[in-house]
Amino acid sequence: MKCPYCDAENTRVVESRPGEDGSTIRRRRECVNEACGRRFTTYERVEQRPLMVVKKDQEREEFSREKLYRGLMRACEKRPISVERLESVCADIERALRMEYEREVPSSAIGERVMDELRELDGVAYVRFASVYREFRDVETLAKEVLSLLGEAGKAR
Ligand SMILES: [Zn+2]
Repeated sequence: MKCPYCDAENTRVVESRPGEDGSTIRRRRECVNEACGRRFTTYERVEQRPLMVVKKDQEREEFSREKLYRGLMRACEKRPISVERLESVCADIERALRMEYEREVPSSAIGERVMDELRELDGVAYVRFASVYREFRDVETLAKEVLSLLGEAGKAR
């Protein structure tokens, strides 16, 4: 594999280990160009057939793990949540979607699942995501959502 920094043709694998959920292999690679010598990470996973996301307007686009991850990251910005935790939440969501929907998944189902996960993970991240996703038009709707969230947190204690 090419080095992403200096474009050298050869890199060597320094370490290989299974990813958290066992469905990926994570490899640390090192550039063999001595002037560079930088390290980077690659992931190897089984090629899956595409899962199509059906949007509100019935347009379809291929499910993108990166897009899901970016959405989660945006919601969790400046929250005390590690990258590893976010990655595993992202993988959980994808796995659940692929199990439940074989070829096509409505975008609403993705949104709902993300909200379920965020609700458990972090209240602030949840409200952030929900306010964009559900397009809270006014402060009242938002406040209602926050109050119901606080109510649940109270019960959990
Ligand atoms: Zn290099």
